[in-house]
Amino acid sequence: MPAGVRCPGCEAIVPDLPELRTDHLYVGAAPGCWATYTELIGRQMADPGLFESRMLSVDVYMAQHPGVPGRQSSQSVWGHLIGLYLVFERGYDGIASARAKARVATPEATFEWLEPPASMGPITVLDVLATTTADEHGAADEHGAAVGRWAASVWAAWAPHQGAVRTRADAAVDRRHGR
Ligand SMILES: [Zn+2]
Repeated sequence: MPAGVRCPGCEAIVPDLPELRTDHLYVGAAPGCWATYTELIGRQMADPGLFESRMLSVDVYMAQHPGVPGRQSSQSVWGHLIGLYLVFERGYDGIASARAKARVATPEATFEWLEPPASMGPITVLDVLATTTADEHGAADEHGAAVGRWAASVWAAWAPHQGAVRTRADAAVDRRHGR
């Protein structure tokens, strides 16, 4: 195994892969962590039963790797935190969450930088990938449970900003119903 480096987002120790520079420069992830994430998404895409897990995994990973202050990174963090809120506290599925996020991120919308918490929670993409056994019976549930624990830990880590996220998401979602 190559020498490990600590991911600046989730703090996992991942292989140092300097040849793999992410195209998503606003994402605060070590290349080795990003490579693990793309492997996870690839496995989830191969199994239609993991659709909801995939939708949630995108929100969790991006919220766990906020990067540095900037217009694009601020909007990304807000969008994915709103996704976590809608799934966890309002019971949305992945499609409904995506539609709601689109209503929040209008072209004229601006998003202030949310100072990331000191810890992004104890669970990382490495833990979730380790539970993926896509061809074993019942693996989808095991995988879904792991994604759920990961999501819960990251949402809890962002506790200082949960109130702001709820307020903004509720305003966008409820506006649709004539309020
Ligand atoms: Zn990471």
